[in-house]
Amino acid sequence: MVNLFHDMMHRDIEVYVDDMIAKRLACDYVLDGDILYKRRKDQVLLRCVDAVEAKLILEEVHEGVCGTHANGFTMARQIMRFGYYWAIMEGDCINYTKKCHKCQIYGEKINIPPSPLHVMTSPWPFSMWGMDVIGPISPKASNGHRFIFVVIDYFTKWVEAASYANVTKSAMSRFLKKEIICRYGMPEKIISDNALNLNNKTIAEVCDQFKIKHHNSSPYRPKMNGAVEAANKNIKKIVGKMTETYRDWHEKLPFALLAYRTSVRTSTGATPFSLVYGMEAVLPIEVKILSLRILMEIRLDEAEWVQSRYDQLNLIGEKKLRAIRHQMYQKRMMRAYDKKV
Ligand SMILES: [Zn+2]
Repeated sequence: MVNLFHDMMHRDIEVYVDDMIAKRLACDYVLDGDILYKRRKDQVLLRCVDAVEAKLILEEVHEGVCGTHANGFTMARQIMRFGYYWAIMEGDCINYTKKCHKCQIYGEKINIPPSPLHVMTSPWPFSMWGMDVIGPISPKASNGHRFIFVVIDYFTKWVEAASYANVTKSAMSRFLKKEIICRYGMPEKIISDNALNLNNKTIAEVCDQFKIKHHNSSPYRPKMNGAVEAANKNIKKIVGKMTETYRDWHEKLPFALLAYRTSVRTSTGATPFSLVYGMEAVLPIEVKILSLRILMEIRLDEAEWVQSRYDQLNLIGEKKLRAIRHQMYQKRMMRAYDKKV
């Protein structure tokens, strides 16, 4: 009798615990058709992926078209921003970077200064640009280019860059016209460094030609061009890691720019892309493993299908929920175990 009572109580507790977990998980996860989403604290849904998809995402985010060879912690945050999730993603990211050959060669120094460098602010986008030149780069690119002109907007941290054979007045003037004025309108001010490879007299003349104010950052205020220096370092690093044969770097430059524009800048806490366009860029990986927003876009054309899916969503079977719960419970146990270990 006592035993039976004990059994019943035990079962009650089990049912109660099961119920609690189910309720918690129902809040954390959403099942839509075959796709499971994890709900973030801010209500944004992240698509849960399996091991095969996770591998593809790791490759793409780290060294794909828009890959920046970021460190593991940054990578995991990037992946979540792209809208994907799996339970052990941060660990996977860290392991992935450890195995990346290029990251080892370039001796990834993770200690990026936490950004007191970016002291300059500007009142609105594209009014104030920092300018610098990278080079001469050795070896020359296969098209003969040795220099990269880099400009960065102080407000959004948007970068533009182009490669040239020589730093001449006409090259600089062409760059200003084509890459800045034609795309973003007239800047109010351009700030440049007193670096050896950048002839300030040439810049001053070109600025004068377009009636743009020119400021020289050094020697009195050497930190003024910090944002440009930081951008240059990053772009150099990204281009370096993207380059396969060392003379094709000029072809990798546009991709390095895309990578830079779509990764979060510590000084603004946002991607330059989102600050300029008000949304995040759709990256190649989102088309391979359809992200929520791509899925939504496909659905927009097929109203009926959408309705049936929503009905499905409303009528999630308990069975399905139990299946997820079980999976997630196991993963939680694993995590708890890992933590203890
Ligand atoms: Zn790498």
